Amino acid sequence: MKTSRRNFLKISAITTSLLAVNKSKATQIVLNHSNTSTQPIVLSTWRFGVEANAEAWKTLTNKGRALDAVEAGVKVTEANPKERSVGYGGRPDRDGRVTLDACIMDEFSNIGSVACLENIKHPISVARAVMEKTPHVMLVGDGAFDFAISQGFPKENLLVKESEEEWKAWLKKSEYKPKANIENHDTIGMIALDMRGNLSGACTTSGLAFKMHGRVGDSPIIGAGLFVDNEVGAATATGHGEEVIRIAGSHTVVELMRQGLHPEEACKKAVERIVNSAKMRNKPLSDLQIGFIAINKKGEHGAYCLQSGFNYAVYSPEINNQLIDAKHIL
Ligand code: ASP
Repeated sequence: MKTSRRNFLKISAITTSLLAVNKSKATQIVLNHSNTSTQPIVLSTWRFGVEANAEAWKTLTNKGRALDAVEAGVKVTEANPKERSVGYGGRPDRDGRVTLDACIMDEFSNIGSVACLENIKHPISVARAVMEKTPHVMLVGDGAFDFAISQGFPKENLLVKESEEEWKAWLKKSEYKPKANIENHDTIGMIALDMRGNLSGACTTSGLAFKMHGRVGDSPIIGAGLFVDNEVGAATATGHGEEVIRIAGSHTVVELMRQGLHPEEACKKAVERIVNSAKMRNKPLSDLQIGFIAINKKGEHGAYCLQSGFNYAVYSPEINNQLIDAKHIL
């Protein structure tokens, strides 16, 4: 078949625009994975963030990927039975079942998440497997468990004696009253910038103690408990998940940074939004805690919380894995 001049022009125009698209994609990938040396930084929520940061720091200073750093970091907290609000040792729901929530996000906006996962010590690694090995982004309950087993994760009992005793004592009154900063909650959210200038984040928790069975908080929800945009920054949340979900908290923080706000200002504005939304519904917030932490592409960091008592750990060449008290609104 002879190609007419008209068709030839059409085809070459299409080819040129396809090449342009491919070229811009290629440029983006090169940019995303440039070898420019950035100062690494890792931030994570609460005091257990110090130990977790130390692990993540090894990967970051070894020129590793932020994604590998955050996974390795939060696994330290997940594995520690003394941390009773994350992973192994986490407090159970009101039926005595330890149900875990986690999510992970990388510099390419790859995401993976698990919710209400039982008997698997490292939900963050299952979330990563969801991200890398399935056509989906989120698995819950039995489906998440079956997938974890199929990937070789061992089935383990996560309920430790202390948590079981607390649950039995709680059952006597069965009063559900989450309290700010008294450790019947807390999540490890970790965000990092690696030496290539790429951002990633991870978030993992056993959620609110004595929650209803099946309750899922903000922590495994991309946009609520965690959000990463490699062009802008990353944010993660802790505290009363129901309030964080309501304003798509971590996504809100990143979008505010996109508008030019410093990470601390962006976190503050997100907490203010939660306060305003609670006012509209006459919901008292005095017993609740909410905290956000954030970093931007330049490696600047910040945090804000609802009321005093929330701290976060920062590790960078200038800040030697220090615990910092976040400013608060109330
Ligand atoms: N955000 C967690 C949840 O709502 C709990 C926490 O971080 O305190 O499940």
